[in-house]
Formats: sequence, C-alpha cells, structure tokens
Amino acid sequence: MIQINDLCVSYRKGEPAVDHLTLTVEHPALIGILGPNGAGKSTFIKGILKLIPASGKALIDTQPIDKCRKEIAYVEQKAEIDRTFPITVAECVSLGLYPHRPFYKRITKYEWEKVFTALAKVEMQEFASRQIGELSGGQFQRVLVARALVQQAKVIFLDEPFVGIDRQSEHLIMEVLRDLRDQGTYIFIVHHDLGKVDDYFDQVVLMNKQLIAYGPTKETFIPQWITKTYGTQTIILERKEEMK
Ligand code: ADP
Ligand code: MG
Repeated sequence: MIQINDLCVSYRKGEPAVDHLTLTVEHPALIGILGPNGAGKSTFIKGILKLIPASGKALIDTQPIDKCRKEIAYVEQKAEIDRTFPITVAECVSLGLYPHRPFYKRITKYEWEKVFTALAKVEMQEFASRQIGELSGGQFQRVLVARALVQQAKVIFLDEPFVGIDRQSEHLIMEVLRDLRDQGTYIFIVHHDLGKVDDYFDQVVLMNKQLIAYGPTKETFIPQWITKTYGTQTIILERKEEMK
C-alpha cells in the first residue's frame, strides 16, 4: 500500500505548487498522474521522494518512502538529465545496481548479466557500449527503463517518459511496465496524452495543485473531472490536435 498524506510543497511562501494532497493506492497498479502544465505533477513526485522540501507524509506500507530509497526508482523528465555525461549505455543501466551494493566494489559478472538481461528486455543490448549521448530519445528512454528494471524497485515513478519518443519505444516500454505491474510493482507515470489514458492506466490521479479526483480510470477519467482539471478550453485544443 502507498499512502500519501497531506503532501504540501511551496517554492514560494504562500504559493503552494502541491496543495494538501492525500491519496492511498491499495494495490500495485499503473497509475497516471494527469493535469495541465504547471499543475505540480513533477513537484508532486519530487515531494513524495523528499527531493525538495515537502510537508506531509508518503509511506510504503508503514515505512516513510524517503527511508526506503532502495525500493524506489525515479525516471526524471528527460530535459532534466545531462546527456553529455560520458557514460556508456551499459554503465548507465548499471547505476540501477548501486542502491543494493557498496559503490567501491567492482561490478561482478553476475551483476553485469542482470544489466544485459534488462537491456535485452528493452531491446537495447546491441547498444550496450554506445555513449548515451548518441542515442535517440526513444532509445535513451528505454535505457532509463532498463536502469529501473535492474534496481528491482517496488515503486517506479516516471515523469513524462513518452514525450518526444517514437511509437515503437513507447509501445515496448508500456509492455515492460505492464509486466512489472503484474509482478507487483507500483508504477506512477506523469502523462499528457489524454488519448492514451484509458488504454494505459488502471487508475488516474487528476490534479491541479490540489487533488481533483483519484480512482479507477473508467470511473475517474470522465468529462466532469477532466473539465475540472484542465478547463474546457484545453480539452477542445487537445481534441483538435488529435484530429490533425
Ligand atoms: P508540471 O510538472 O505539472 O508541469 P511543475 O511541478 O513542474 O508542474 O511546476 C509546478 C509549479 O511550480 C509551476 O508553477 C512551476 O513554475 C513552479 N516550479 C517548478 N519548479 C520550480 C522551481 N525549482 N522553483 C520555483 N518554482 C518552480
Ligand atoms: Mg512536469
């Protein structure tokens, strides 16, 4: 169970970016975090992980989430990652091993096998010795998912993983995530393509600083709540984009 209790984050005093957000996820699921630009979706994740100062609680079962970092994989928004850093694909994926091992020990043959198994799952094993800077957006996103796989996390947060990537990569990543969900992983995905929501998520969090609605996608991703989250204008614009 994941419990988020009264989470508040403010970058400026008196201006909450995430405002008293409370929700409980009972079982492993694929959960979409939805809301307009600036709604506080990325801030919500960073607040849960206490990567920025936040008040309120976030628990896995009864443990504070920030005390069980090992159990959590976080794939940040691509724009926030420095891809000029000289590191190979395999090395990047191997970073997922570190929560479970002392950093100064050499990676064992068995651990490299884990890295290559994860790369094979996202169909990137041929790219193992490439520099991460040489990959396409979709390929890089697959590598980040492989890093999360290696970590064997109980909870995975992905912030807009499908922005600017090819369809094939998106499809493959969703397949891998569905498998993980079936094996008992909680997966939170910040997502902006409203057209895919029904297909991708078991549950949705609709938010705009405050929680607007949370629950099973079928019952929650409905016009009443969508309009309350985005306003009518945005939805009409999105539909037009989809029809192009
Ligand atoms: P979303 O991910 O939903 O687009 P964000 O969580 O990035 O929204 O941002 C929520 C609000 O907080 C926005 O108004 C944004 O401008 C502001 N914000 C985000 N990051 C910072 C920061 N590091 N410092 C100050 N304000 C920020
Ligand atoms: Mg964001």
